[in-house]
Amino acid sequence: MTLLRVAVDAPLWDALDYLHAEPLPPGSLVRAPLGRQTVCGVVLGPAQGDSATAASALRPLEGVFDALPPLGSDWLDLLRFAAGYYQRPLGELMAAALPTWLRERGAAAVAKRVADWRQRQAGTAFRLTPAGREQMPRTLSSRHAALWRLAGALGLHPARPADSSSAMDQGAPPRLSVQAARALHPKAAAQLRAWEMQGWVERVPEPCRAAEQPGAPARPPVLQAAQQAAVEAVRAARGYAPFLLFGVTGSGKTEVYLHLAQHALARNPQAQVLVLTPEINLTPQLVQRFAARFPDAMLAVLHSGLAEAERFDHWLAAHSGRARIVLGTRLAALASLPNLALIVVDEEHDASYKQQEGARYSARDLAVWRARQRDIPVVLGSATPSLESWRAAQRGRYRLLELPARASGSMPEVRLLHAGQDPLLRAGGLIGQALHEAIAARLARGEQSLLFLNRRGYAPVIRCPDCGWLSDCPHCDAHLVYHRTDRSLRCHHCGHRAAIPRACPECGSLDLQPLGRGTQRAEEALAELFPQARIARIDADTARRKGAAQSGFAQMHAGEVDILVGTQMITKGHDFQRVTLVAALNPDAGLFTHDLRAPERLFAQLMQAAGRAGRADAAEGGTAPAMLVQTAYPEHMLYRALVAHDYPGFAAQELIERRRAGMPPFSFQALLRAEHKKPEVLEAFLAQAAELAAQPAREAGLMVYPPVPASLARLAGMHRQHILVEGPNRSMLQDFLTIWHSALVQAKARVRWAIDVDPTEF
Ligand code: ADP
Ligand code: ZN
Ligand code: ZN
Repeated sequence: MTLLRVAVDAPLWDALDYLHAEPLPPGSLVRAPLGRQTVCGVVLGPAQGDSATAASALRPLEGVFDALPPLGSDWLDLLRFAAGYYQRPLGELMAAALPTWLRERGAAAVAKRVADWRQRQAGTAFRLTPAGREQMPRTLSSRHAALWRLAGALGLHPARPADSSSAMDQGAPPRLSVQAARALHPKAAAQLRAWEMQGWVERVPEPCRAAEQPGAPARPPVLQAAQQAAVEAVRAARGYAPFLLFGVTGSGKTEVYLHLAQHALARNPQAQVLVLTPEINLTPQLVQRFAARFPDAMLAVLHSGLAEAERFDHWLAAHSGRARIVLGTRLAALASLPNLALIVVDEEHDASYKQQEGARYSARDLAVWRARQRDIPVVLGSATPSLESWRAAQRGRYRLLELPARASGSMPEVRLLHAGQDPLLRAGGLIGQALHEAIAARLARGEQSLLFLNRRGYAPVIRCPDCGWLSDCPHCDAHLVYHRTDRSLRCHHCGHRAAIPRACPECGSLDLQPLGRGTQRAEEALAELFPQARIARIDADTARRKGAAQSGFAQMHAGEVDILVGTQMITKGHDFQRVTLVAALNPDAGLFTHDLRAPERLFAQLMQAAGRAGRADAAEGGTAPAMLVQTAYPEHMLYRALVAHDYPGFAAQELIERRRAGMPPFSFQALLRAEHKKPEVLEAFLAQAAELAAQPAREAGLMVYPPVPASLARLAGMHRQHILVEGPNRSMLQDFLTIWHSALVQAKARVRWAIDVDPTEF
């Protein structure tokens, strides 16, 4: 028996020690008893002999996933780093990184899915003893004939074969899928498992079920000069080299990624390329372009929308090194990639790279860390980089690569429509006069329009016009949102559901009305204005129905829709060939908020939306592509920069303000988030936490702000507050957090709390 240290899939701060019959290499995946459960675990190494567990309490491992190759040391290092940096238990990072299917299945179930078989040692003699009988029958029954065929197909040498024609002794041992084996022997799976027990055969981890590949391979276009220069710069880099690829939507960034991937795969026959994208379902064209460009390289996709078993297959394709290209959302940043040679982070500014619960990691930041660790290039691409990345490029930490122009078509003209001067908007309408005319012009020419609303702040709420009563959630500081389809009121935060009252609960008025400017209302307004138009809506509501968003996008691509209305969802990813008008109905809410990143996000969203217009060449008589923005603040710096397509100008202004305010990227932040049902318990905890922070923060030169309510101060009946810690130096902040964190753990508060490092939501 040896003693192994195992990180288990449970929110424990320490790894645990287990007994096992033989030593296992670090990275081995195991199943381990924990309390009354059995959980997945990863062997970290031999136990250090310092376990708090008494020898009598040590328990043996329950199983080893020996059909899987162990996880690499670089993967273990990545998880250890992430756990340390984000102040989370290793087991929680593991849960985020490993597919649920793997974590919840026993070794046998996993091995079954890892389906190929081969003989264990090439050329070993083997005794065929079906039905427990030692000697060979003189004539083979059909059952034995099947066994002989199966053994022969695996290249096994029967010890006393009647005929040895099926024996092979040259080359690599053949591998057999369970399906192929079944064709030779009706009970092949059971027989193979029996032979496995006897040590004759073993499984080969080889799922071949990654993304389906489309038919026609696409020819790469000849790169334009700026694209070529970008590709050359990355190709010429040796070792760790971070790049920021800056170019508007349609400037050819994806084409650069494709070429870089091609070079990486050509340079090393094993190389793996990781491509991160914010939202895979909204960017199916990205997957298609990679699949079409690399019809022979196995492509795996990793995102939370996959069925569990499917996600396991793709994860395994990445982990076994067979998938050469791995496309995925933030969780793919934690994938096991033994031969990682290049990382691409598309739309690197996108907020969805930051996980907002559990282990609150930034996939973009971890991608850069991984590139440094593996000593490889990493390319962050964006039309509107995060201010962090932009500043890193300005300071020379990242190398800036710029694609100045659109590869095809032109950037749309952006026009600001002054809401204050529009009689229709002033009367509370959603579609102003100028926008109305612009849509009508598109309809007349058979072109498409895309209209979007910021979801934030515009959910339709039921309001009493007589007394001002609003449909509030009884559990949260949020309004209940009116859902027309089933006439219900729902809280978008805690899920609370209520019927619409027949009369105002405050004053009894019967005139309750939806307030706010939801996409449903926009759809209704459009239907009234343009009764002939074909209108589709895509938002979080319609997207709840499986495939609804996809079919909406498909209709749009097929030209079956004239006007698409939705939330910012519809501004991402898709190249609509016939859209010549994009309009932001009311984006102003992003200008004035307590969230320091709101303007940055608004600008990025509007630039991205602009990129949806006129991607196809409008030269053939189409309307010049345009983006219209209805705003009450047309003088605002953000909108002026937008009109000029001037991200650098916007970034320069924002950075001046950030520097003045001492905010990131000029400082580093962490939040202590806490919540409890009783406000007094919560406040007592935060007072204690502030006290614990005071001394170490002073020594580290950090600022600890007083506790404040979170922007959603109450959620599902819980009161929520946080303490912000800020300082000029990342490593000082890290050192402080380690101290503060362990003090907080020791305080054993009954309050639910967590530290959020580099927070992006407050
Ligand atoms: P981005 O990723 O920056 O939005 P893409 O790489 O998707 O840009 O390019 C936009 C469009 O231009 C795509 O249809 C792409 O196929 C095309 N394109 C990109 N580079 C070239 C090129 N060098 N020659 C011709 N077409 C190109
Ligand atoms: Zn009322
Ligand atoms: Zn609620």
